Amino acid sequence: MALVIHNTTIVTSDAARTVHHDASIAVDADRIVAIGPTEEINRQWPGAEHMDGRGKAVFPGLINCHTHLWLTVARGIQEDFGFPSTLRFPTTAQAMLSAEENAVFAMLGALECLRGGNTTLLEIGTRVPDYVKPVAATGLRVVFGQTSSDLEPAGIPENRFVYSPALAEKTLRGTDDVISAWHGAEKGRITCVVAAHAPEACSPELLRGARELAERRDVRTTIHLDQSHWEVESVMRVRGVRPAEYLFQHDFLSSRLVAAHCRFMSPGEISHLGRSRASVSHNAAMAARRAAAPPIQALAAAGCNIAMGTDNMAHDMLEAMRTGLFVERISRQDGERPWPEDVLEWGTRNGAAALGLGADVGSLEVGKKADLIILDARRPHLVPTLRIVSAWIHNGQAGDVESVMVDGRWLMRDRRVLTIDEGDVVSRAEEIGRRVWRELVARYPNVPFPITLPPPASQAMA
Ligand SMILES: [Zn+2]
Repeated sequence: MALVIHNTTIVTSDAARTVHHDASIAVDADRIVAIGPTEEINRQWPGAEHMDGRGKAVFPGLINCHTHLWLTVARGIQEDFGFPSTLRFPTTAQAMLSAEENAVFAMLGALECLRGGNTTLLEIGTRVPDYVKPVAATGLRVVFGQTSSDLEPAGIPENRFVYSPALAEKTLRGTDDVISAWHGAEKGRITCVVAAHAPEACSPELLRGARELAERRDVRTTIHLDQSHWEVESVMRVRGVRPAEYLFQHDFLSSRLVAAHCRFMSPGEISHLGRSRASVSHNAAMAARRAAAPPIQALAAAGCNIAMGTDNMAHDMLEAMRTGLFVERISRQDGERPWPEDVLEWGTRNGAAALGLGADVGSLEVGKKADLIILDARRPHLVPTLRIVSAWIHNGQAGDVESVMVDGRWLMRDRRVLTIDEGDVVSRAEEIGRRVWRELVARYPNVPFPITLPPPASQAMA
């Protein structure tokens, strides 16, 4: 049966940035079939289920173009020790997780995505097969990228860059296997990209293999780019040019690329990336945590499509958009621009375009998929709702999202998550997280670890 959400505010994020007041939106099966004045839509859809939208605002689902769901295991720690981390353990907490434990943290990330109104994610990881199935079952729209790279990890601590053809073959096969199994699954709700890890981690041969794989499979590509000073210095030492120049030399820049971060770009790199018409995933909150502000205005002016992502340990796209606005105003020394409507566009329509999903999602328009979120617009920090986009970007909270729909299906309704056992995921993540970090610290007692960890969760709860 069709659904009509009536007498509500509808933020479309369409090209004209239309906001409808006291309007209705009709959904039939997985698509938006009508948007317009309430009386007119009611007349057109008399037999539909009706949902009262008074005091609410309907937004397009947020499009998160860079996540690593499973890295929630490092939450509360890795935000504060730089990148690459200054905690010099020979291994990581995430590397100590079993496949099942890894999936718990991916589900924790997915839960946070859902609660914060992310409806589409570009999820990148080295162990996607651990969690692809349960995450796909959440109903979220996900683009999975199983990472390819051929840098031998053993040399990294001594800054030795050794590239292995065997590793290139193995990781590209892993990427291809995930594409074979999942690209186009769930009636197209699940798709895949080729995710080359980063310029310092990929030889020219790996980049060529990744590009050929993407062409053969007709999928997009993604890579971390200019993420850290260490990356820039390493690529300059090994390749003699800066990271984006290296990718340009090996034909890896294109309009089908999502380049994540782009924090420390030189004018030449900005020009190369802009001319390629690549998309940038601006992970503003994580960048700010790392003391970085990517040159967003210059990247956009050069021709890049600016999208947004959350990156590690957090999946709050509202925080990413707000931080993007704040940091950009500081960078530009401009108290007026960008506007909240600009950053909402980065977090919705531009993100959809970055992932090649612009015909289906990223805005609320007739014919598009019913991927939408409903905010409670009567919360004290949002009224008066004179300009709801500005009110939400400046003053909103992720918890204002009370319902989430993807493909016409409710994934959360009235703040109840319908597709994930929230209590189970949260309690298991707490238990495993405490245990695995304690094990890591105990295993390497000679590595200085400046934080006091809490006791195991079972003791804390007793
Ligand atoms: Zn990343």
